[in-house]
Amino acid sequence: MTRIRQQNVTAAQWSSNGESLGALDLTLPENEAFGENVFDTDEQKERLSESAFNKLQATLKGGEPLDPSLADEVAKAMMEWALENGATHYTHMFQPLTGSTAEKHDSFFEPAGEGKFLAGFSGKELVQGEPDASSFPTGGLRATFEARGYTAWDPTSPAFLLENPNGSLLCIPTAFASWSGEALDGKIPLLRSMDALSHAAIKALRLLGDEESQHVFTTVGPEQEYFLIDEQYFYERPDLISTGRTLFGAKPPKGHELDDHYFGSIPERVLAFMMDSELEMRKLGIPVKTRHNEVAPAQYEIAPMFENSNVGSDHQQLLMQTLENVARRYGLVCLLHEKPFAGVNGSGKHNNWSMGTDAGSNLLKPGDTPADNIHFLFFCTAVIQAVNKHQGLLRASVANIGQDHRLGANEAPPAIISIFLGAELEKVFEAISTGEGDPNTPASFLDLGSDVLPKLPLDGGDRNRTSPFAFTGNKFEFRALGSSMSLAFPNTVLNTIAAEAIDELAGKLEAKLEGGAGMPEAVMEIVKESYLANKEICFGGDNYTDEWHAEAEQRGLKNLRTTPDALPEVVAPDTITAFEKYSVLNERELESRYEVWLEQYSIRANIEAETAFAMAQTMILPAGLRHLALISEAGVSSLEGEVRELVDELVSTLGELKAANAYPEDLEGLELAIYTRDKQLEAMAKVREAADKLEKVVTDDLWPLPKYEEMLFIK
Ligand code: ADP
Ligand code: MG
Repeated sequence: MTRIRQQNVTAAQWSSNGESLGALDLTLPENEAFGENVFDTDEQKERLSESAFNKLQATLKGGEPLDPSLADEVAKAMMEWALENGATHYTHMFQPLTGSTAEKHDSFFEPAGEGKFLAGFSGKELVQGEPDASSFPTGGLRATFEARGYTAWDPTSPAFLLENPNGSLLCIPTAFASWSGEALDGKIPLLRSMDALSHAAIKALRLLGDEESQHVFTTVGPEQEYFLIDEQYFYERPDLISTGRTLFGAKPPKGHELDDHYFGSIPERVLAFMMDSELEMRKLGIPVKTRHNEVAPAQYEIAPMFENSNVGSDHQQLLMQTLENVARRYGLVCLLHEKPFAGVNGSGKHNNWSMGTDAGSNLLKPGDTPADNIHFLFFCTAVIQAVNKHQGLLRASVANIGQDHRLGANEAPPAIISIFLGAELEKVFEAISTGEGDPNTPASFLDLGSDVLPKLPLDGGDRNRTSPFAFTGNKFEFRALGSSMSLAFPNTVLNTIAAEAIDELAGKLEAKLEGGAGMPEAVMEIVKESYLANKEICFGGDNYTDEWHAEAEQRGLKNLRTTPDALPEVVAPDTITAFEKYSVLNERELESRYEVWLEQYSIRANIEAETAFAMAQTMILPAGLRHLALISEAGVSSLEGEVRELVDELVSTLGELKAANAYPEDLEGLELAIYTRDKQLEAMAKVREAADKLEKVVTDDLWPLPKYEEMLFIK
């Protein structure tokens, strides 16, 4: 079977999903879809008794433990709401250690004798579920004799309805734990880390003179990058289907991406898809805000407004799922892989992170008053200290096999974690720590009198796009997440390490105050000490350059290029100490994650290597042979040599890959991961090199795979 251009003509055609969504009058309340499918506060108020509603709110707002007697009433209200909206089933939704979303559906309806069925949903069913957990990875946490796992309702993340053309499903966000109470998911540690941070920050705020705040919550605002390609191409490529990325494909002509794609006008089909998926997200209560083209061809970005870390993390999972589902309505496939196309920019996810009090102040926002700025400097210093101490863990928190093509490769952000403070803020820290201003720093910075630290002259426009961890005016932006990732673990790490640093600095502050030090001075001394001890993590230059790599090494910063290099940080002594101290994850729970993530790496590497072998052997090699036959038939012998050489190269690299794929059975864990990286992935890269060269010479209609310029440029 040969390929002809007709396929591209077909791919380029689209219609707006049968029936277009139309344009509604959005000034009318009934047309505003936001939260329509969420069991939100309004819905709860309407359907619950006043006392039940108030108790539930107390749990949500103040973090008070849930009154179990409430569960039955809430369950009944939830079920009625769900049934009215076409739901036949409910599910406890959770995030297993693979980072994906898991669900098992149960019907509301049960036989009630005499052939009748009745709908029922008890408080017990709401609060606790027992999925058949044996198929989820646990990294040894669950002994085989106790294969059960439990899901537990998380009332702080609202339940919602997932619509399907044939009905809907009530989804209840839950935590997932083992029989013995160990966390088997992403949510439990995230919630624990939010608590840890809140306790530490409140303690610090009290010392800093804040008597009002009761609770500090962390916030996350993700910016999600993704690719869209026509689904026809997707289904023609076994590599995209089974690995999410192209394992073969010669680069399109350089410069083809045309500079105006970024922030350029959005192709009509893509915009139609975006509008449709955003509508779905609004119904689910996801506050989507921004959309635009990204740097690479066929690459786009969507960013919701920030929310508390737990809800934001749940919403992020839903957002990814919605993008994937809705794309199909437009004949598109959404690729969330970190590097679907070699030689083309990869996809990341920026994780904007901050801390806010229940009294409404953002602790990472420099304010107008000296007091605000003292708070800001204190918490900002804690973040710098935390990131420096746990730089390796932060790197590990964003490690997966797809990321290895971005971090540590010739693409940003780099695998070296550093902080960009911005010129203004760096000057302030330098001035405080040296006691000397620079000509551009107002003298009043150094005056420790009552009008110390006046307005910090922070310029919101100060940007460094190459930094993996940048201060951006009122938050830090952790830019190293991959596009397919769950937010849960990276934010668990940020919260936990920040809690540790805040706690440590608060301890020092307490001691100084008890020793009779005055208020601003005590904080300034702490800022100075900590900054001087940690400033090597701060870097304002271009993170992509070789000079930085050399300098970072001199500074002693970690450069963990690949997943097998990074993952051991998850079980490093400093990690275990911090995570156990704040009861976020114990050593066993950390080890289980380490094991599961290593295993995932090796499995995915092996799938890639075996898929590459099969495609090269059964699709690409035959194309090369046919092309050779064509040349022989035509009798133009001058053309034969080059092609024969490439075919020979393909055959011999295939032999190496085959040998690498038959890996020794006795390897496991880190050793296996290193083997797959150094042997399988290396051999695969060589096969690809030969195949991509062949692609450039083989007769076009003999080539069995859609090419980069087709997938990336036909919209
Ligand atoms: P910019 O990229 O210019 O900084 P914004 O200030 O609008 O643009 O913010 C970009 C992203 O940062 C958005 O996704 C937003 O949700 C998020 N963000 C803004 N404030 C916070 C905050 N306090 N905590 C977490 N994320 C935030
Ligand atoms: Mg950004």
